Amino acid sequence: MPRRPEADDFYGDGRDAPTQLVVDTVLDRQRRTCIARLLDDLSDECAGRLQLDHVKSQPHVGAPVEKRGKRRRHRYRAPSDPAHLVAVCAHHHLDGWATSHRGAIRDWLSR
Ligand SMILES: [Zn+2]
Repeated sequence: MPRRPEADDFYGDGRDAPTQLVVDTVLDRQRRTCIARLLDDLSDECAGRLQLDHVKSQPHVGAPVEKRGKRRRHRYRAPSDPAHLVAVCAHHHLDGWATSHRGAIRDWLSR
């Protein structure tokens, strides 16, 4: 069994980190399965550990929001709550699946 993901695995500096309860909620909701497996029958095999991916409610438009700190990695990152987070394996996070399926993920989150 792979080690259970914990909040600190995602945001080491603690800034805007999801709580352990949020992490567990997100993972349990997906039955600890990569979102690619749940949404896309054609996606290839998962690999690597599950990671949390922030999904904004709407694609961003207009001017970027002010960065809150130097270490904030994304200018537009969504809040760290279950309505804006999905679990995706390292492979599908990094190979572009998560980015190219934003619409489907957003629909799934808004059910
Ligand atoms: Zn995957």
